[in-house]
Parts: sequence; C-alpha cells; structure tokens
Amino acid sequence: MDWNTHTVTNQVDELRDADLLALDPALQQHLQRLGADWALPGLHAYGTALGRRETFEQAAQANAAGPVLQRFDARGRRIDDVRFHPDWHALLTLLRGQGWMARPFADHRPGRWAAAAAGMLLHGQVEAGTLCPATMTQAAIPVLRRDPALWAWLGERLLDPRHDPSDRPIDAKPSIWLGMGMTEKQGGSDVRANTTTATPIGGPDSAEALLRGHKWFYSAPSSDAHLVVARAAEGGLSCYLVPRWRPDGQRNAVRIQRLKDKLGNRSNASGEVEFEDAWGLRVGEPGRGLPTILEMATHTRLNCVLGSTALMRAGLVQALAYARGRQAFGRPLAQQPLMRSVLADLALESEAALVLALRLAQAFEDAEGPAPDPLARAWQRLMTPAAKLWVCKRAVAQAGEALEVLGGNGYVEESSLARLYREAPVNSVWEGSGNVMALDLLRALGREREATQRLWDDLAEGCGDEPRLRAALTALAPVWQRPTDAAEGQARRIAQRLVLLAQAVLLRRHAPAAVTEGFLATRFGPDTAGIFGALAPAALDVDALLERALPTQA
Ligand SMILES: Cc1cc2nc3c(=O)[nH]c(=O)nc-3n(C[C@H](O)[C@H](O)[C@H](O)COP(=O)(O)OP(=O)(O)OC[C@H]3O[C@@H](n4cnc5c(N)ncnc54)[C@H](O)[C@@H]3O)c2cc1C
Repeated sequence: MDWNTHTVTNQVDELRDADLLALDPALQQHLQRLGADWALPGLHAYGTALGRRETFEQAAQANAAGPVLQRFDARGRRIDDVRFHPDWHALLTLLRGQGWMARPFADHRPGRWAAAAAGMLLHGQVEAGTLCPATMTQAAIPVLRRDPALWAWLGERLLDPRHDPSDRPIDAKPSIWLGMGMTEKQGGSDVRANTTTATPIGGPDSAEALLRGHKWFYSAPSSDAHLVVARAAEGGLSCYLVPRWRPDGQRNAVRIQRLKDKLGNRSNASGEVEFEDAWGLRVGEPGRGLPTILEMATHTRLNCVLGSTALMRAGLVQALAYARGRQAFGRPLAQQPLMRSVLADLALESEAALVLALRLAQAFEDAEGPAPDPLARAWQRLMTPAAKLWVCKRAVAQAGEALEVLGGNGYVEESSLARLYREAPVNSVWEGSGNVMALDLLRALGREREATQRLWDDLAEGCGDEPRLRAALTALAPVWQRPTDAAEGQARRIAQRLVLLAQAVLLRRHAPAAVTEGFLATRFGPDTAGIFGALAPAALDVDALLERALPTQA
C-alpha cells in the first residue's frame, strides 16, 4: 500500500494457506517408514485445514480472549464454569473430529501411534493450548481401560470424535474430556506431600469417597471429570475419578477458586480448586494412586515431547519462509552465510526432535499387548523422561532464535512467534519439570537393569563403528554399569548425553546423509554449539538441510 510518506516494501507475511504436512518431507517420510502411510490422506486434509489463514486467526483469537471463570449463574447459584471464546471450541472440534487423539486406542493398524503423534505435531504448530485437554483425555484412556466397569461407562465417550462442551452429567453426554489433579500448594513434584483426603462412603472398602482439600493447578477445570490423587484414611495415596456431576445428578463440590493468569498457554484454562467433600470413585488399587497416575503421566510426557517438537517446527517454518523473502544488505537473509548457519542449526534440531518423538511414540505402540517388545519398554521407561527434559528445553531456546530471525516483527504480538515463545516453557514445567525428569532417568537406570541393557545394546548397534558415536557411548558406560555411583548433580548431563546419542543413532538409521552428517559434525565435534548458529558451516550441506526443512516448491 502507498502511504503519504512511503511505500511498504520488503515486508514478508507469515506463511499461510498451505498443507502443513506437505511442507514437511521429513515427517511424511518418517510416517511411511513407521507404517502409517494409510494415515497420510487424513493427515494431509488435517494439515490443510490447520494451515488455513482462518485457523491461525482462530488460534490467535482463542489466545487473545482467554477463558473466563463464571463461578455463579445469573441468580447466584454456584456453577463453577469456564467460558471460552467460540474459536477455542472450533479448534477443539477440529482436533477431536479428526480422531487422532483416540486413534491409538480405537485402531489396531500398525503405525497408529505414529499417526496420532503426527496429528498432535500438526495441531501443535497452530495452537498449543487445545493440546492440553486432548492430551489429558488421551492419557487417561490406558488407565481407565484397565477397569472393565469404568471402561464400560466411559470408553465410548472417550473415543467419540465429537467435542461436546455442554456442562451436563457424563451419562447425558456423547463424548467427554478428562483432566488430572496432582499438584497442591505445598508440592507438585513431590506428589507424596499431597494432603487432600479421601473418606470412603459406606465402609472402609468402598471405592466411593468424599474428597476434601485442594489442587493448586487443575488444568481444563471444566472437563467432565479429573483423575485426582488423594490420601485415603489408611494413609496411602489413591487415585479417584472426580466428575463435575455426582451420580445423584447434583453438581459435584469441586469449587474453582480462580484461573491462573499464565505466561503462555492462554487459550487454555488452568484453575485452582477446592474439594468440599467432592464425590470420587477410586481408580486402580487402594494405596496405589501414584503408579496409577504415573501411567497417565507417562503418556502426557510423550505429548509434551510432541508438543515441543511441534513448536520447534512451527518456528522453523516461519523463520525460513521469512528469511527467504526478506532482503538485507542486498540479498535475502536466507543467503547470508551467518543466517544460513542459524537456519541450518534450527533445521537440525527440529528433525532430531522429530525422529526422537516419533520413535518414542512407536515405543508406546510396541509396548502394548500381551508380549510387549522389551526394547519398546526400555524406550518408554528410560527415554520418555530423557526426551521430555531435552526436547522441551531445546524448544525454549529454539523459539527465541526463530523469533529473532523475524527481527522486530517476531517480537510483536501480531506475530505467531511471540505466542509460540510464551508457550514454549510450559511443556518443560508441567508433567514433571526438567530436574525431576533427569532424576527419574537416573532412578530408572538404577532399577530397570534389563531395560537399561536392552537400550544399551540397541544404541551400541546403532553407533556401528562411527568413531564420534562410539566415543559418546563409551562416555556413558560408567553410569550404565553402575548408575548408583552417579551423583544426582550429574543427572542432566547424563540425560543430555543419552538423548544426543539416541538422536544421532536414529538419524543415522533413518535420515538423509546431509542431516546425519550435519548433526554429528555439530553435536559431537570438538566445537559443539552453545548457541544456535555457532557452527562450522564447512561441515554442513546447508542447501540440502534448508530444502528438506521447507521445500522451495511446496
Ligand atoms: C500451566 C500449567 C498447568 C498445569 N496444570 C496442571 C494440572 O492440570 N494438574 C496438575 O496436577 N498439575 C498441573 N500443573 C502443575 C505442574 O505439574 C507443576 O507445576 C510441576 O509438576 C512442578 O511442581 P511445583 O510447581 O510444585 O514445583 P516444585 O515441585 O516446587 O519444583 C520447583 C523446581 O524444583 C525442581 N525440583 C523438584 N524436586 C527436585 C529435586 N529433588 N532435585 C532437584 N530439583 C528439584 C523442579 O524440577 C522445579 O524446577 C500445571 C502447571 C502449569 C505451569
């Protein structure tokens, strides 16, 4: 447009109206490799719907408006409800309607976990807040499936692809959302410190109980039910299903005190609640509340890895598209040698996160059934916390760097990268913060000796005789052999080494030479990068890396 004083030139719009899957050859190839080619048509349609300008606009609106707590109705009756912008519901309708959330449990085809992961990876590039209720609902499924009576009641409603936002008893709804409640004021990581009590109704052996206490973080508080940890009379922690409505048709006494005013994740509601003798139904064995809820948390941790991988990809795509269009000092940014180092580094980090996230998802598939694959179990137990720590942390750094590629334009709220930057830390904080994940890895190394050995053998085989990888493997050997000798203070270091090695092995097996060589040269060389772009470009086939990251013809 012409203004009185100047003409607007050399401004580059964010990339819109593209199929997000078509933009991503790496994701397509990895899906085919994992046997999920049957899912590609559906994922392309989803990628197209998500990539529309209107969907990005919906995401921006849902975050700008944010949820509003409505404690009372117009006549003063307590309703403890949350009102959302219509675009929040539109995004949840889109997400749930594709069926990716329930796919791993509703489908038996090989590649179902990779397909579901891809759905999350695509959705998370456009709107991350909606992944929270989807993740918690999905993660509750394996826990509830173990209980035939509960599954008979809830199963179909969990697998149903409709988004039903109505506030009604579960029996009146075709589909439901679930959340989880562990964190209390006095401690979140230390769940054993929970003080909420559960008093059995009608005798000590009853599965029904009245819960009294609070939860300090209670995301998606208007979900149809939450899985909640509480201390039963005998002192042990048990897990309870706490619905919004009691079986007698009354509102359950879960009082939403307020909603958190969060740094990011603003489309999604996270509440603080009080249980005033709220009705709950025990899930799992009495006194085994922690293992029960941790099974759910293992699944949510996978989705944290996927969500952060999606953020990394979203930042990379916009950064690369911008750098190709924006001119500075006489040529496009994407042709400036130093910017090429930055972009190539972001591309390497992104594909390394992708291949790790998909391998992890595959492990969840292979660990199912009566004869689970021991290697898959090893991946689930050891690599889930390690990957959660690493990828979620890398996403924070990558978000800042991708934003900066857009210069000042990246820093203003009209840019999707500003929202992405505020969103990035949450995956690292919730569902087990960084240190807790590193310590969990250390614990698993000590306890799960068979799994540890199985993972070692696989990594050793994947390293082959590549000298940099063999050296990295050797460096891990002492902690592998005697994990009890490792000081807690080293846990992050161990996790970092393990993840980098696993990523390198996966890339070596499944990625083109430009990616593998680039990763090895920059992550295992003498000059290991501390900031993005601090690379020795001679070691990189930058053109190949950038073309794979975002094909110029796509
Ligand atoms: C947006 C948002 C939504 C959330 N939604 C939910 C929800 O729906 N349900 C729910 O239950 N929780 C929820 N949480 C809570 C979240 O899971 C906790 O914040 C998290 O587990 C950390 O617990 P905490 O805040 O009590 O921190 P703390 O446990 O006090 O930990 C503080 C820091 O100390 C570190 N730390 C802890 N123990 C050790 C140790 N032994 N050694 C070294 N370092 C250690 C942690 O890694 C962390 O960095 C949510 C949090 C956020 C931010």
